[in-house]
Amino acid sequence: MSKRVVIVGAGLVGSLLSVYMRRRGYQVDVYERRGDMRLQQYTAGRSINLALSDRGIRALEELGLMERIRPIAIPMHGRQIHQADGKEVYQPYGMSGQFINSVSRGELNKTLMDLGEEEGAHFHFQHRCVSIDWSANRIHFEMEGDKMISTDADLIFAADGAFSATRLQYQLHHDRFQYQQSYIDFGYKELTIPAGADGGFQMEPNALHIWPRKNYMLIALPNPDGTFTCTLFFPFEGDPSFESLQTDEQIRTFFDTHFTDAAGLMPDIVTQYKTNPTSSLVTVKCYPWVKKDSFALIGDSAHAIVPFFGQGMNCGFEDCFVLNSLMDKHGEDWTALLQEYQQLRKPDGDAIAELALNNFLEMRDRVADPKFLLQKKIESKIHARYPDQWVPAYSQVTFSPHIRYSEALVNSMRQEAIMQQLMARPDIETSWDSPEIENWILEKLHKR
Ligand SMILES: Cc1cc2nc3c(=O)[nH]c(=O)nc-3n(C[C@H](O)[C@H](O)[C@H](O)COP(=O)(O)OP(=O)(O)OC[C@H]3O[C@@H](n4cnc5c(N)ncnc54)[C@H](O)[C@@H]3O)c2cc1C
Repeated sequence: MSKRVVIVGAGLVGSLLSVYMRRRGYQVDVYERRGDMRLQQYTAGRSINLALSDRGIRALEELGLMERIRPIAIPMHGRQIHQADGKEVYQPYGMSGQFINSVSRGELNKTLMDLGEEEGAHFHFQHRCVSIDWSANRIHFEMEGDKMISTDADLIFAADGAFSATRLQYQLHHDRFQYQQSYIDFGYKELTIPAGADGGFQMEPNALHIWPRKNYMLIALPNPDGTFTCTLFFPFEGDPSFESLQTDEQIRTFFDTHFTDAAGLMPDIVTQYKTNPTSSLVTVKCYPWVKKDSFALIGDSAHAIVPFFGQGMNCGFEDCFVLNSLMDKHGEDWTALLQEYQQLRKPDGDAIAELALNNFLEMRDRVADPKFLLQKKIESKIHARYPDQWVPAYSQVTFSPHIRYSEALVNSMRQEAIMQQLMARPDIETSWDSPEIENWILEKLHKR
């Protein structure tokens, strides 16, 4: 009889994993705490849309699923930067033809559930994992009306997100489980720019819009219905902050002053600001991720990260991709397979957590600095001329799935050190395009 696999959590990663596991012929049951989102209006506590990029796409393509996702994806070819003085600057993300995709979280999740079911996975909704009997690998779920049911599994995947109940069960019952959660001093709030009177977009749809304002920022991603979902990343305390903006007048004046063009497109900004929730941003690191041949953490339950590189889901999809390649390598030896899975993925999870935190600084502050824009121009030039030798950090993370996150972190630190040295030259603004500068960079690059 084939292995019985239980996946806790029918979010993005759990639903994709159900397809992978069914393709291997395992019996797959997915238990989700919420009701079936396909039958109800989707009310997310988290972002309404997300950026899907090459690592996530590679996992979807491997299963031939991308054809079902592409129709709901809007390509974003670069950053449209809305400066404080009202000017706009466009920064392409990578080389021509490289882009990321704005995808509705709800539509993507529903499609992945459909695909899981089409493959033969059984989804059980309104089943909240509350405890696990590790001696028998028996999972206990609470259903509506406090009813309890239990199920046995050969292999349990915890895909129940950043605040994973399954991970907590592991932590409570296993000695030396390491767990760290850290919050940044910034939270986020989502706001909507409506479609125009003709139903079309009121800003360029094929870009990710950013309003960088040093200590805070607003971003906006397009939706297929002509709207944009904006996210305000803002300090919890201080001035200005979620705490300091209290009255209608303070809110209206703040947006009119600092995000003038966006505020002009949101006549109901005050109501939205007061009605929509403020949420916090957590990084979770833990270890180990696996238990012998019977349990593994995957997706946010293993590595929740802040969203500034747009990689949380992509990283979770890559977990599934790597797991699948290890199934080719190890066959039914799940002890060896899960060991190698955590050996490979733990350093990569830690690396993308660090890269994501670093990118916050870049997005909210540095992209508005003319010197930083020049640095990016130099890097793009070197990348275009020597594509195998210099790949900008953003491209390594976003468009180069063959480069591991942990390698991208090391490479990006090295490249940034070279760039910092270069940008300190007093003549850089006039000499940046010269052969001398190009040779200097290449020399530094080859000096190990
Ligand atoms: C503001 C914001 C913007 C983001 N933008 C991006 C982006 O642009 N690109 C990107 O790649 N990532 C982005 N992310 C990250 C992305 O949302 C997560 O990495 C992704 O959702 C992780 O998927 P998951 O399936 O592991 O967890 P989740 O999506 O959290 O799914 C977990 C599922 O488990 C269920 N569950 C929880 N507890 C239980 C329980 N006890 N029993 C049963 N079921 C349970 C939940 O109901 C949920 O359905 C963003 C995150 C935030 C907060």
